Amino acid sequence: MEILPLEPFKVVIDGIKEAGGEADKFCYQCGKCDSVCPWGRVRQFYVRRLVNQAKFGVVPFESEDIWLCTTCRNCVQRCPRGVEIIDVMRSMRRVLVPDGVVPASIPICVVL
Ligand code: SF4
Ligand code: SF4
Repeated sequence: MEILPLEPFKVVIDGIKEAGGEADKFCYQCGKCDSVCPWGRVRQFYVRRLVNQAKFGVVPFESEDIWLCTTCRNCVQRCPRGVEIIDVMRSMRRVLVPDGVVPASIPICVVL
């Protein structure tokens, strides 16, 4: 089994916290956010997985999912733990933008 170094993930976790995503520490993975996210009606899209990835510093840079959140707040209103999910989504984007990891279809001025 390959043992991965922790340091890179800690750097990302710290970056997410600095960008305002610390609220993800309250998530207990109940999935209520997934049940109300409009994206769930049209494609596979797991809000709780993104929150969990932020918690552990594993930003899915190869996926377009973190760029899909429309900030509608459905999930925030439903979350029993008061997780500011939109802040988590934005903070993951902010971690990627300085490295230029942004889909070509999205102007950088609208993601921050
Ligand atoms: S609703 Fe809140 S606590 Fe439940 S999985 Fe989503 S973010 Fe986590
Ligand atoms: S704020 Fe984003 S993640 Fe939450 S329900 Fe709306 S589109 Fe989905």
